[in-house]
Parts: sequence; C-alpha cells; structure tokens
Amino acid sequence: MDWRDTPEQAAWRGEVQAFLKNELPDFGEIDRYSRPGGGEMKAAWDKWRAALASRGWIASAWPKEYGGAGLSPIDQFILNEEFAEARAPQMGGMGVMMLGPTLITHGNDDQKKTHIPRILDGSVQWCQGYSEPGSGSDLASLQTRAIRDGDDFVVNGQKIWTSGAHNADWCFMLARTDPDAPKHRGITYLLLDMKSPGITVRPLVNMASQHHFNEVFFEDVRVPAANAIGEINRGWYVGTTTLDFERSSIGSAVGQRQNVERNLKWLKENKATIAPTDYDAARMQWADRWIEVQTATLLSYRIISMQAAGKIPNSEASIAKGYNTELTQRIARSAVKMLGMNGQLTDRSAPLKGNVAMGYLGSVSATIAGGTSEIQRNIIATRGLGLPRA
Ligand SMILES: Cc1cc2nc3c(=O)[nH]c(=O)nc-3n(C[C@H](O)[C@H](O)[C@H](O)COP(=O)(O)OP(=O)(O)OC[C@H]3O[C@@H](n4cnc5c(N)ncnc54)[C@H](O)[C@@H]3O)c2cc1C
Repeated sequence: MDWRDTPEQAAWRGEVQAFLKNELPDFGEIDRYSRPGGGEMKAAWDKWRAALASRGWIASAWPKEYGGAGLSPIDQFILNEEFAEARAPQMGGMGVMMLGPTLITHGNDDQKKTHIPRILDGSVQWCQGYSEPGSGSDLASLQTRAIRDGDDFVVNGQKIWTSGAHNADWCFMLARTDPDAPKHRGITYLLLDMKSPGITVRPLVNMASQHHFNEVFFEDVRVPAANAIGEINRGWYVGTTTLDFERSSIGSAVGQRQNVERNLKWLKENKATIAPTDYDAARMQWADRWIEVQTATLLSYRIISMQAAGKIPNSEASIAKGYNTELTQRIARSAVKMLGMNGQLTDRSAPLKGNVAMGYLGSVSATIAGGTSEIQRNIIATRGLGLPRA
C-alpha cells in the first residue's frame, strides 16, 4: 500500500499548511481548546472563525450550497491531519458534526433556512439529548415521551450525560412518540429550544472536577410539531444519518503521537533526576506506546483508504475507535507512572503543567463515550467476524 500523496493531494496539503501558517492565531499553550470569555482571546477566536468561514472550513464536509466546502473524504482527511499537527481547533461542535448532516438530508426548507446559518456562524450552540438513565448502549429502549397535542408535542422524561447542555441554546433529541410500536419504530427526532418552560438542567461534575455533562429533565415541555425532523416515528433512522464524513480519527492518532513526544521530551530532559531502573522502565513503556501510536495511525489510513475507494467502514471503524480510546488510556497510565507521585498533581506548577493527572482522569471516559469498548467488540464480532449475536 502506498500512502504517499498524489500530486493533487500534495498541493492541497500545501494549501492547508499555508493557511495554518498565515491564519492560525496564537491561542496560548494551556487554553487552546477552551472557549474564552472575552478580551484578546475572544478576538482571536472570532478572527479564527472568520478565517475558517471564509473558506467553508467550519463544515468542510458539507456541500457548498449549504456553506460547507464540499471536500471529498480524502481532502477532509488531509485537512484534519494538518489541523491536528498544528493543534488548530476546529469549530462548530455537534451542530456541524451531527445536526447539520441530519438537517441537510432530512430537514425541510424552513428547518434548513432557520438552523443551518446559525450553526455556521456559531450563534446557536447545540447539545445531543439521546442517552437516558436506562438507555445508553441500548439507546432504542429510550423512554422520554413526546405526546401530540394540537400543533405541539408535549415532552416528559429525562436525559443524562448531555454534554454542554448548560451552555446550549438548542437540543436535538430522540423521544418516544409511539410506545406500542417495536422499539426502533416509535421514536421521533425533535429540535427543542433549551429556553422552553419545563426544562431543568442539572450539572454532573466528573472526577476531574469538571462540569462537562448534565442531567436534563423535561416536564410538560411544549415543542412545536414543526420541529420534528423527518417522519414521525422514523426518528431512529433520521438520527443515524452521517453524510459523507471522513471517519478515520486521524486527528486523534496525531494528538496521541504528540502526547507521547511531549512525555518523551520530559523523560530525556529529566534523566539526571530519575533512578536508572525507573528511567529504563519508562523507556520501555514509551517504546511500546510509540509502536501503538503507529498502529493507530495505520488504522486511520485503512479507514480513509476504504472511504476513498467508495466503501463504508463498519467494523473497521469500531476497531479504530476501540484501539484509539484504549491507547489514550495506556498513554495516560504510562505518563502517570513516569512521574511517580508527581503524576497525581493537577496543579499547573506540577511537572508537565499538571496535564498528566488531568489527562489520566479525562481518559477514563474515552472508552464509554460514543459507544463503549464492549459495544465496539460486539460489532467487530458480529459484523467483522460473522460470529452469532449471543
Ligand atoms: C464523556 C461523555 C460524553 C457524553 N456525551 C453525551 C451526550 O452529549 N449526549 C448523549 O446523549 N449521551 C452522551 N454520553 C453518553 C454515552 O453515549 C453513554 O454513556 C454510552 O452510550 C454508554 O451508555 P451507558 O452509560 O448507559 O452505559 P450502559 O449502556 O448501561 O453500559 C454499562 C456497561 O455495560 C456494558 N454493556 C452494555 N450493553 C452491553 C452489551 N450488549 N454487551 C456487552 N456489554 C454491554 C457497557 O459496555 C458498559 O461497560 C456521553 C458519555 C460520556 C462518557
């Protein structure tokens, strides 16, 4: 297999690199991935958004007619790889990644006209209301009810683990509209204004003391029926829409390599202060992690080469998701071991700015979010290896 760029791909890569060199503001080391409250950082973010928007790169996979760049999966792959190398933040979040493709495929003209521009200009933040206390891996068993009443649905129930609900303006959600139908066939995909009366957002603080996700409660919340996307009771199939996205996770493989490099640099610089046996143990671990990072990169290449050949990755995407997220955890563990007692400090004055302990705490959820490792293994077993379901 030849992974080298064709002349056209090399030219595209050069264009992306030149853009990053000229346009990427200096967001600073620590706060690069967190949204600023105001001042200079806000100005830098606004400038960056405008630079991306001018090229349709907020939603590079979307068709041009909707404000995207209409890039092919391989051109998206190159863009994502170069953005990850430059540690350049992408924008748009769930609105771009999840809701936009759904609206483009299933939304009516009014729904597209109302929501698409506000996803692209960042004026509306979206959250995803899928998981419920009893429905995560088995999402189709969800119980939040939406009952038709005139021109509205009336929603009652609860969502959980709703990332960013406390900052979101709107929510795309799945609710049960026909409790008597088979579980996949009685669900409707709704758009809901988070300012509607009857919504309570309660924070869930994770073990790193961060408020990332929430519980969301609905008590007689009225949602106009016009906010249903696609057919009533067919929401399960609406919710699985993906458009033609690049799904190789190359950004994550590049980030992991950079993480290993940062740790290796620290190890080399601090050799004189580390007992020789500990130093050797750390070396061995980082050699293993380095090999695994190369494997993660090759898994990304495998997926993008399938997409470039017009195939749809299936169990291959599960292999990459499972491997990448478990590698994230192994890298985090190796870093904690390398730092010894200091690996438990989250303080910015700790070695590697406390990122090791924070990275370790943050890595635990990687194998749960977006489908657990067990679910990925089930997919690999059934769809990849053809084994029976049970
Ligand atoms: C960081 C993070 C962000 C999230 N953000 C959102 C969000 O914005 N919106 C949203 O809707 N949800 C979100 N989630 C929820 C996420 O989708 C669920 O946590 C995930 O689908 C797992 O569901 P669960 O937590 O209910 O676990 P369960 O499904 O109850 O699973 C519990 C355990 O049982 C195992 N298990 C379950 N079924 C099987 C099976 N058939 N075979 C073998 N093992 C099985 C699982 O692997 C797991 O170990 C987020 C989760 C995390 C961690």
